[in-house]
Amino acid sequence: MKLYFTKTPRIFTRIFSNYTWRFSSDKKEIYLTFDDGPTPEITDFVLSELQKYNAKATFFCIGKNVEKHPDIFKRLITEGHTVGNHTQNHFNGWKHKTVNYLNNIETASKLIESKLFRPPYGKIKASQGKELIKKGYKIIMWSVLSADFDTSISREQCLQNVLRNTNNGSIVVFHDSLKASEKLTYVLPKVLEEFSKKGFTFKAIT
Ligand SMILES: [Zn+2]
Repeated sequence: MKLYFTKTPRIFTRIFSNYTWRFSSDKKEIYLTFDDGPTPEITDFVLSELQKYNAKATFFCIGKNVEKHPDIFKRLITEGHTVGNHTQNHFNGWKHKTVNYLNNIETASKLIESKLFRPPYGKIKASQGKELIKKGYKIIMWSVLSADFDTSISREQCLQNVLRNTNNGSIVVFHDSLKASEKLTYVLPKVLEEFSKKGFTFKAIT
């Protein structure tokens, strides 16, 4: 049994309505997001694919990876994408005290200048979310999970997760990580092609 939803149930978005789960459905716009980078080669691959379609996206970076790969991080910004904070050490909010969680985000914020935040694993305590919002952060969740991290599904299933569930205003999660790369490199070019053909544009979250 899978322990996640590829399409976020409406009940979640109602309960946690102070978080962003999707954008307006008035326009044919899709918000692609990439978590856990920057990662050499993988993030470069993503950038060159996005460029082919003049697509913009949002990268939720891990502070420690920005430290290791500052050049790739700079490239994200110079190519017109936006970046967000994904903690310094990929902290699971449920396992950390609020003060420690916030400190870890603060450390990452010295490297990642952004008020966008995505909690690793989507796991964040209400107290942590409240404090972040107080500090001016926007907490960006998602409406479509590609599940590119799931080694038990096929590349084709991963592609179908995105093709079936994405529509106007969707926020879609991918990972520019080594673990997800086998699926990502297969799925991303097809997603860009399919939705471009249907007249969608790809926008960065600001
Ligand atoms: Zn993550």
